[in-house]
Amino acid sequence: MNWIIDWPYKWFAPFLPERCGKSAPHWLAFVDKTWVYTDRVRLAEYLAAAPVVLITDAEEGRCYFCGSDLGNASCLRSDGIWLWENGLDHYVLEHAIRLPDTFVAHIEEREFRPPAEVHDDFEFLPMPTGAEVQGLLHLE
Ligand SMILES: [Zn+2]
Repeated sequence: MNWIIDWPYKWFAPFLPERCGKSAPHWLAFVDKTWVYTDRVRLAEYLAAAPVVLITDAEEGRCYFCGSDLGNASCLRSDGIWLWENGLDHYVLEHAIRLPDTFVAHIEEREFRPPAEVHDDFEFLPMPTGAEVQGLLHLE
């Protein structure tokens, strides 16, 4: 499974490699140093500017790669269609994280302009289910 090409969800939150199976969608599975993408900065700006839709009381987030304080990583952002964790822009800019192709295409379609507000009711958000996450975590 190439997660970048075949990512089937509308949420994006890679796991910590040491907390999941080898084939699970963890951070290392999305590193692509050969990806030349001229709009990388606009992509990151989009990720950082979309509205926050959910704040949980999980611990503060630190970057998996460099340990930087990313603020509240348990806070999720959404553009109404996709959902991702706060701080994803840092990974895209600093650590060669390549987003799933469908996610990039979606942002391009929106011409890199995030909405000012979105529905933040759970029923409108593409939240991963517990069963989905458990299944993905254990992929060997
Ligand atoms: Zn980092």
